[in-house]
Amino acid sequence: MAQGSAKIRIAHAEPLGQGARLLRVERVDGAELGFAGGQYVIINTGVTLPGGKLAKRAYSMLSSDAEQRAVEIAVKRVGAGPGSNVLNDIAVGAELEWSGPWGKLRLPPGFSGRALVVATDTGITAALGIARSAAAAGAAQLDLLWLVEPGDHFVSERFVRERLPAAVRLTVAGDFLPVGHPERPARACALVGDHAAAAPYDAALCAGDGAVIYPIRDRLASLGAPEGSVLLESFFNNPMKKSL
Ligand SMILES: Cc1cc2nc3c(=O)[nH]c(=O)nc-3n(C[C@H](O)[C@H](O)[C@H](O)COP(=O)(O)OP(=O)(O)OC[C@H]3O[C@@H](n4cnc5c(N)ncnc54)[C@H](O)[C@@H]3O)c2cc1C
Repeated sequence: MAQGSAKIRIAHAEPLGQGARLLRVERVDGAELGFAGGQYVIINTGVTLPGGKLAKRAYSMLSSDAEQRAVEIAVKRVGAGPGSNVLNDIAVGAELEWSGPWGKLRLPPGFSGRALVVATDTGITAALGIARSAAAAGAAQLDLLWLVEPGDHFVSERFVRERLPAAVRLTVAGDFLPVGHPERPARACALVGDHAAAAPYDAALCAGDGAVIYPIRDRLASLGAPEGSVLLESFFNNPMKKSL
């Protein structure tokens, strides 16, 4: 299936904790999305922003790419943010538009080595998509490290464990520093460094806080990760955007 826009329907929704929602979404025309685990779609929420632009927001699939007709996303309500509030409140059966799939955060087809997946915060969605898809393809050995602050009400550790294939080794740093804390990048680099020192990885895929995952890439490079073997998807605090 080629990338492009399509009309989608909210097929199912359920609350997750206090401030997030799990949505099952399908194309109205019944076509397959054609995504790989780790990729995302951009949903046009239909909200017009003060400057006149439409609020279009990215969400990573947390379901396996073995199922292409209906996908699952989880959306955290971020303050009064227009996109996340629409998707937390929208009725089942409602229709919107999306485009995609997008993104290069994915294991190469046929990858059979060892991979480290690092997620901070909401980046756990992409990590679940990668891990579940790799398991469905029957390849790759994965270690997943999730850095999340205490009391974060996005998805629970139980939610993640219930969906993770048994072969994936999950480590949860559930006492991680809050978003914006100045020591967040250094703490993350130390945790990832410990992981990588224990066993080398053929690939690393990182999703979540841009202030954290770019320094992680530098740390892995300093530990010998080959050029191009560390892939990033910044969900927020994207340093590349700030410099534009
Ligand atoms: C590739 C990609 C994949 C994404 N996947 C998901 C996903 O699976 N689930 C999900 O809930 N969100 C995901 N996001 C974030 C999402 O696109 C929106 O930024 C988020 O829903 C807030 O949108 P908003 O319109 O409500 O608020 P906005 O007004 O757009 O956002 C308010 C501010 O909050 C920041 N922000 C966004 N997320 C967080 C967070 N978790 N913690 C702290 N600050 C944050 C934004 O960057 C912005 O500065 C993803 C983003 C990208 C780029």
